[in-house]
Amino acid sequence: METQILPINDYSIKLAAELLKSGEIAAIPTETVYGLAGNGLSAQSVKKIFVAKNRPADNPLILHIPDTDWLYRYSKSVPEPALKLAERFWPGSLTMIMPKNNIVPDETSGGLTTAAFRMPDNKYTLKLIELCGFPLAAPSANLSGLPSPTEARHVYNDLNGKIPLILDGGSCSCGLESTVIAFTEKGVKILRPGGVTPEMLGEFCEVEIDKAVTEGLEEDGKAFSPGMKYKHYSPKAAVYMIECGDYGDFIEFVNNNYDENTLVLTDVAGKIRAKTLSYGNTDKREAAELFSALRQADELGAEKIYVKAPEKKGIGLAVYNRLIRAAAFKVIKL
Ligand code: AMP
Ligand code: MG
Repeated sequence: METQILPINDYSIKLAAELLKSGEIAAIPTETVYGLAGNGLSAQSVKKIFVAKNRPADNPLILHIPDTDWLYRYSKSVPEPALKLAERFWPGSLTMIMPKNNIVPDETSGGLTTAAFRMPDNKYTLKLIELCGFPLAAPSANLSGLPSPTEARHVYNDLNGKIPLILDGGSCSCGLESTVIAFTEKGVKILRPGGVTPEMLGEFCEVEIDKAVTEGLEEDGKAFSPGMKYKHYSPKAAVYMIECGDYGDFIEFVNNNYDENTLVLTDVAGKIRAKTLSYGNTDKREAAELFSALRQADELGAEKIYVKAPEKKGIGLAVYNRLIRAAAFKVIKL
């Protein structure tokens, strides 16, 4: 199969809508990462997504909708706080889990009785969903286990020959997948951190952060969000996350522990003797550049990557969550 890349515009979304209506799948831009989209109500289309990505079948997909009203089409009971949160954060990087109804196939929900919903912040992608008339199931458009794609060429590298179309919307502004929340008696529980931070949610309700966000699951631990139990975001190089107080300690550690195949992700290249790759100078920039930097490190043939752990607050919590998984929990505490 030949994979076509088209800039996203009024013309290409019509083409994509025809393709998706015929049961095919296509990669689409969102503000978080690129998604691999298919008809979320069609078991056949959803199966194509799992096959192309090589994604475990019990890892459920997020349904992307263009209007909050669509929640009532596919959810048995919409929690009241969901409406308040949707009003504040949609379109945007917040995914909400709620009971699904029978229209949503088990293939989409990974066999769960709940489904996850989000309204992406990309005007063409929203128009595309309207044209389709059904919600788009769209997990990240990478091969399972690799860093998520934040540019069309990342999707092409992973899925060339496996999907017919990639809509190119440029670099993703957020760069990390959405915040996933479930509703609790008192408020919400964050299952996966993202662009909508605990602090932002805290203005509306009580916020709990699932333990698995910053720690690994125990061998037989039960995941509230099945995606959290899988190895994730890993480049070929071994990633080491360095937890330390300030940059001085980080620089000293790196300078004493590098070789010619080491690459350091940093914004303070000057004093580091190892090869470096420029990466963020604010937590927002780190979020936007992390996945791209991990892919670039592989292209450069790095064998070992050192990166300083971010502070676990704001969007830094989401960066920490992705990094510790990219590092397969190899954390060096100084
Ligand atoms: P991705 O689309 O690749 O960003 O992954 C979607 C994430 O949402 C995964 O971590 C899933 O485990 C999570 N998710 C989707 N649906 C549900 C659900 N019904 N319950 C819990 N987690 C979910
Ligand atoms: Mg993913």
